[in-house]
Amino acid sequence: MQAPDQPILRDIVLVGGGHSHVGVLKRFGMRPEPGVRLTVICRDTHTPYSGMLPGYIAGHYSYDEVHIDLAKLARFAGARFFRDEALGLDRDAGKVLCRNRPPVPYDTLSINIGSTPQMGNVPGAAEHAVPVKPINGFNDRWLLLLARVREHSGPTRIAVVGAGAGGVELTLAMQYRLRDELRAAGRNPDELSFHLLTSSAVILPTHNASVRRTFERVLAARGVVLHRNAEVTQVFAGRLRPAGGEIIDADEIVWVTRAGGAPWLRETGLALDADGCIQVTDTLQTVSDPKIFAAGDIAAMVNHPLEKAGVFAVRQGPPLAENLRRTAAGRPLEPYHPQRRWLALISTGDRYAVASRGTLCLRGSWVWRWKDWIDRRFMLEFSELPPMKTEPSKGTNG
Ligand SMILES: Cc1cc2nc3c(=O)[nH]c(=O)nc-3n(C[C@H](O)[C@H](O)[C@H](O)COP(=O)(O)OP(=O)(O)OC[C@H]3O[C@@H](n4cnc5c(N)ncnc54)[C@H](O)[C@@H]3O)c2cc1C
Repeated sequence: MQAPDQPILRDIVLVGGGHSHVGVLKRFGMRPEPGVRLTVICRDTHTPYSGMLPGYIAGHYSYDEVHIDLAKLARFAGARFFRDEALGLDRDAGKVLCRNRPPVPYDTLSINIGSTPQMGNVPGAAEHAVPVKPINGFNDRWLLLLARVREHSGPTRIAVVGAGAGGVELTLAMQYRLRDELRAAGRNPDELSFHLLTSSAVILPTHNASVRRTFERVLAARGVVLHRNAEVTQVFAGRLRPAGGEIIDADEIVWVTRAGGAPWLRETGLALDADGCIQVTDTLQTVSDPKIFAAGDIAAMVNHPLEKAGVFAVRQGPPLAENLRRTAAGRPLEPYHPQRRWLALISTGDRYAVASRGTLCLRGSWVWRWKDWIDRRFMLEFSELPPMKTEPSKGTNG
């Protein structure tokens, strides 16, 4: 974006390559902002698109199909790409502190680092459970789990803790894939059993009753044992204890409960909510520091409490890009008002999906094909990067 003969007037630094920042990079690539130098700091060169993750786990997509190549996208945007991990901020000096490189100066900073699991309050969880978050490391953890299950002889019991959309989708996707793996190895897929535990009285608490009933039926038909009102209070090697219930044996324990903010944010002095996420106003600026923005799971919009879902991270990309531009140009910022209702397309592992929006519930293999089409089209926007005149599409996460 920065032509070599242009002076650098503003340094905009993006920390994290989440769903909002990929949208920012795409937009700045399509319409460069004169005098702005963009820098991305991210732990990973490839960032997963969460809408397609369950399909990847089920075995319907390859790694490349569900990951955005950040280095390539940064090149398209004319941005510097630093593969590194942010560990803190020196807000007085306006610098990002990184694990491996000298502090990176910023005039404007944006944070889109996703969420991390809150396992610390459950004894044994951090040692013995496999967290789904942070989402970027999940692929490695999943491949290890897959290898363990392949090597485990005899019955294998898998417990998934958390029955929001992520937990339910993940259970069904894992079951589909692991049964396939055992079949391919000439083993009996019925050696696998699944338990899904939730602290609440219902699964998918943010979705309508028809969606919940549909998934209850699917889980029952697939033999997944559902434990309601079963908050896990302690995890041991190969066992977990739900509140007021019997201890459950499990060869694998997968943790998909509500996630929170990275611990290093506590040292930044930015105002955080109870889960440790950064409080932001409608302009996506942090309430504490107008030079710092945040978006996606790590942001807590003080006026619009949102579910932690990729759909919101994707949707915050365009208003974030616009406000970063406006900041650079010294123009007034625009407020962003998220939609009150959004469409969620939740898959059942076997190329079948359920559409949920407000009180609407539609289901079928056609819903899966619809989701697949939308998601592939979304990913094309980031893999095919000639100069473009049109705005990117939104994906089922957006
Ligand atoms: C199994 C599963 C399925 C899901 N399915 C859906 C779905 O179908 N639809 C949906 O809307 N949501 C879904 N979600 C939720 C979704 O994954 C998250 O809401 C979404 O990933 C949040 O996006 P984000 O942009 O905030 O951050 P992320 O996608 O988590 O990206 C954060 C990025 O920041 C980088 N990073 C993190 N910390 C640092 C650091 N300190 N320094 C530098 N870089 C850093 C990471 O490497 C990563 O690239 C699912 C979640 C799970 C667990």
